[in-house]
Amino acid sequence: MSSWDVAMEEEIQLSQETSAQISEADKRRTESTDAGVASEEGGARGCTVPRTWWAGLLKAAGNGCGLPDIQPPARSLNIVSGCTGCSAESFVLQAFGYDFQLHSISERSNAYRDFLLENHGDRLLHVFGDVKSQLEASDARPCLTCAAKNIVCNESEFAGEVHLMVAGSPCDPYSVMRQKRFHEDSVMRHRDYSTMFSSVLRMIAKYLPFITILEQLLGFDQKFDAASPETPYQRPAATADTL
Ligand SMILES: [Zn+2]
Repeated sequence: MSSWDVAMEEEIQLSQETSAQISEADKRRTESTDAGVASEEGGARGCTVPRTWWAGLLKAAGNGCGLPDIQPPARSLNIVSGCTGCSAESFVLQAFGYDFQLHSISERSNAYRDFLLENHGDRLLHVFGDVKSQLEASDARPCLTCAAKNIVCNESEFAGEVHLMVAGSPCDPYSVMRQKRFHEDSVMRHRDYSTMFSSVLRMIAKYLPFITILEQLLGFDQKFDAASPETPYQRPAATADTL
């Protein structure tokens, strides 16, 4: 069996597992307890946005496990993220009523950066085009926002505490949707492979966040290639040694 056949087989198996999980979730679905509240104030322009349906479900699930209701802290939280994408964490915090500011984010996609400005512009302080620029921020290397406003970028002089850091590190090397994902050395030779852990660890060293969340694909915990006994998930210590 070729590596491609193995990849296809794993992809089909994952699809089937996902379908089974969706069916199982559908069976357990209950009516939202927040049906009486159809919308809430939010967004950079103060417009009315739909209430997030899953916030009520999560609260109900937590209560069902004996957990108390989420009580957002009185103080504002400082958030940092790398490879931010749509900043899903911002929507989660917003749905649960947390006050927060996005101290520093990095995102290569113009469309995602525009999306963030539109939805969280009033919370957004320093915006970078990639993680490398974010890590090297200084007066001489300002973020995109400060450069556009022609003001001093004090991103790296931030004296406050970073309560949460979320890093969606590069996922292309591990994606099972990539045609050569399971070819020999395909993961390690990918141009993004070496940047992943080193960037994340440098971000942690720079911001010293209370909590760090790293997001990755299912393919991150699948074998390097058809002949390998290891998955990338099992090798972070080896990568850290190279820093
Ligand atoms: Zn800045």
